[in-house]
Amino acid sequence: MVVGGGAVAARKAELLLACGARVRIVAPVLGRAAAELLARQSTGFDRPGRLAHRAADFSPADLESAVLAIAATDCRATNARVSEAARERRIPVNVADDPELSSFILPAIVDRSPVIVAIGSQGSAPVLARQLRTQLEALLPARLGALASFAGARRRRVQHALPPSKRRPFWERILGGRIGAQVLAGDEASAAAAFEADLDAFRSRGARLGEVHLIGAGPGDPDLLTLRALQCLQEADVILHDRLVPEAVLERARREAERVCVGKGSRVEADVAQEQINELLVAYARRGLRVVRLKGGDPLVFGRGGEEIGVLARHGIPFTVVPGITAALAGAAAAAIPLTQRRVSQAVTFATGQSADDDSLDWLALARPRHTVVFYMAVAQLERIVARLCEAGAPADRPAALVERATLPEQRVLRTRLADLTRLARERNVAAPALLIIGEVAAAEESGAIEALTETLQGAA
Ligand code: SAH
Repeated sequence: MVVGGGAVAARKAELLLACGARVRIVAPVLGRAAAELLARQSTGFDRPGRLAHRAADFSPADLESAVLAIAATDCRATNARVSEAARERRIPVNVADDPELSSFILPAIVDRSPVIVAIGSQGSAPVLARQLRTQLEALLPARLGALASFAGARRRRVQHALPPSKRRPFWERILGGRIGAQVLAGDEASAAAAFEADLDAFRSRGARLGEVHLIGAGPGDPDLLTLRALQCLQEADVILHDRLVPEAVLERARREAERVCVGKGSRVEADVAQEQINELLVAYARRGLRVVRLKGGDPLVFGRGGEEIGVLARHGIPFTVVPGITAALAGAAAAAIPLTQRRVSQAVTFATGQSADDDSLDWLALARPRHTVVFYMAVAQLERIVARLCEAGAPADRPAALVERATLPEQRVLRTRLADLTRLARERNVAAPALLIIGEVAAAEESGAIEALTETLQGAA
């Protein structure tokens, strides 16, 4: 029973009808939305006969055969009477925008029937719940309902065909793999054929070969994980992660996943050697598990991801690589430093500070003007880096920035010049992980310094 004839009452009635309820609206007169809803129903066009209207003021007798009551009038006294009468009869009651008078709350919903996502705040912040709904609407594929129905129509068969231990891995593979993608793209015919083939293969083959997902965890803030990284983390059986990956990121992973910390931090003694990591990856995958190798930043930037890919390929283990936001990009964003900028910097190089002592880097190239250089692993080598750049012709007043623990709560950004870099870092106790950004662009934030520089360069040209 819905009390009220306005737009809010009409919306609630429509929702209830959509869920299969029979609805009675009690109101002296109906507003336009409610009248239209009633007209649509009585023409038999849309679920005929399930909506009725009693043109009267509410009386407790209206609750006679009701199982759920909603009050949506603009009169609080009437709403309160509905609430009281319903509670006396132990009928759940909701009063629009009034948690005190309600015995239940209507959550905001994202409807991908048969999948329904409900978001509630126990009445404390309905607007927040609606904002979350908007975000989820954007996130969830439009054909999610079709995918659920596709699976639902085959659930029984899979139960007969596969033992319990194989069902979850099977469905994960179907829903998260190419067949799920086909359904979401609207190609159910191909998906149905591929499904049969996969089910046969799954049934006949014994322990299947596992797979490895090499995933970039980004710089530390869990909100900077990619959507795909999140999906893979949610489906992992085992996660081998670097020490650089913070707990807040690991918390986004499937609770049941086994976690193995393989080090790769600054405390070298505790680290698992790279050969052992490679062996672990192969061993877990051979047990038929979904293995996630989770690395800070991007797995293919100073992450030895290439070696792991090589090992997996040699052993014939299927793998995917999911990119992550590398520290250079996160650090630049944190400090609002453009890594390239028209007329100021036309190229950017990512380099490792560990090479400051050998001759593997082309220092003349790195010292050139209008070229941004980002050094990873630089904290212990600042003095050498500055010396080599200056020897190679970089001016002592070239701007530089240190970004410590970018995107983490303790993030710090220090701006300086090459000449003062080492002293400043020592004074402020800069520690790893930190990034060093060198180039004219590093002066960016300082009151339009970039614009000034652009003008100077233009003047020179
Ligand atoms: N694969 C990683 C890099 C690993 S090397 C990536 O793509 O980012 C480790 C170095 O990355 C650290 O010494 C530091 O220079 C840099 N780094 C990683 N996370 C960082 C962060 N949150 N802030 C600043 N630098 C970071």
